[in-house]
Amino acid sequence: MVSRIPSAGREWAEELDRHDPLAAFRDRFQLPQDQTIYLDGNSLGMMPKEAMARLTKVAQWQWGDRLIRSWSEDWLEAPSRIGDLLGQELLGAQAGEVVITDSVSVNLYKLINAALDAGPDRTRIVSERAIFPTDRYILEGVARARGLELVLLEAGDGQALTPEEVSPAVDQSTALLLLQHVDYRSAAITEMAAMNQIASQAGALTLWDLCHSVGVVPVELEASRADLAVGCTYKYLNSGPGAPAFLYVRRHHQKLLRQPIWGWFSQADQFAMEELYRPPASIARFQVGTPNILGTSLVQLGVELTVEAGLGRVRTKAMALTELARFLHQQWLLDLGYGFASPKDPNRRGAHVSLRHPSARAICAELGDHRVVVDYRPPDLIRFGLAPLTVRFTDVWDALNTLRQFCPHV
Ligand SMILES: *Cc1c(COP(=O)(O)O)cnc(C)c1O
Repeated sequence: MVSRIPSAGREWAEELDRHDPLAAFRDRFQLPQDQTIYLDGNSLGMMPKEAMARLTKVAQWQWGDRLIRSWSEDWLEAPSRIGDLLGQELLGAQAGEVVITDSVSVNLYKLINAALDAGPDRTRIVSERAIFPTDRYILEGVARARGLELVLLEAGDGQALTPEEVSPAVDQSTALLLLQHVDYRSAAITEMAAMNQIASQAGALTLWDLCHSVGVVPVELEASRADLAVGCTYKYLNSGPGAPAFLYVRRHHQKLLRQPIWGWFSQADQFAMEELYRPPASIARFQVGTPNILGTSLVQLGVELTVEAGLGRVRTKAMALTELARFLHQQWLLDLGYGFASPKDPNRRGAHVSLRHPSARAICAELGDHRVVVDYRPPDLIRFGLAPLTVRFTDVWDALNTLRQFCPHV
């Protein structure tokens, strides 16, 4: 039940901020000195104030003092220990199914190849034309190298593929179905369980890109019967530029799948320096070489902050923030020629909203001049990332008010 009818006045946003149980988390992050309204946490999350202390701890005590001994004391197991935390708390995975390693792009390459090797008689890969560019480039490169057919589907509503659209393309010749969980442009959420079922009925594997869901949308990898997943940590998890990514492999598949980069960190007993490559039957076989320890320590911090906030509360606030943006769009921006390019139902979208306008590029530049940082996504989208740990309701109000006042006819 709605206790009050929303108005477009700023007091409404101020009241939402006053009742926001996550309001205090903004203080845990360093804020830009020039009062910028930062709505790009889905490209690069803000810096937690504690980041410097964590880096200092690892550098000064582990690197500086314990030196090489830190590998056996902590660093060797850090990628799977922190992977377990992330997987169990935020992805609905079990212990031993997630590891922090490499970048999303490299992990995609590893898992795509592992999945294709597991179905050597299958000749087709199915994905979406609107998937994030790095995903598509890697798919195209692998498909060409192996002479496989790559089917790129297009969503009828321009937002996210439906099971009905995907089902006819996935057959007994299909090795892999690669999809984004939350679309990086529209924010539309893809129905994970239904897609997994379509793939498993055809004997194909699913690979999910979780970059725009991890940390803001609850993911149920186990319950939805997903096979494989990748995601990054520098967006909603605030782990810093180039912080290592994660990958997930359902336990049942681990001993059957082999990734193509046979590095020594995926060797059963890496310090035996054996001649033969023997990957262990665990998630460790999906690592490659020496992990980035400073970056991994910040992944732990980012996950801890989100766990402390509570993923349920983060999700609730994300829906309320995007709902406020939709309401103000209707009140102010529809008549100025802005379209709403995200799902209207808050249950069906992640933590960003996109507005459509033919002059989107110039409008984004204009917003930047007024210290509102958003993303331009070609050809005509203005993307507002509403990261719940750092964005206030009044930030949404102020940003869209700036848009209405200064950018109506750019
Ligand atoms: C950000 C993002 C990536 C980034 O991949 P990197 O290897 O970290 O550069 C990949 N996929 C999606 C959907 C993204 O949003």
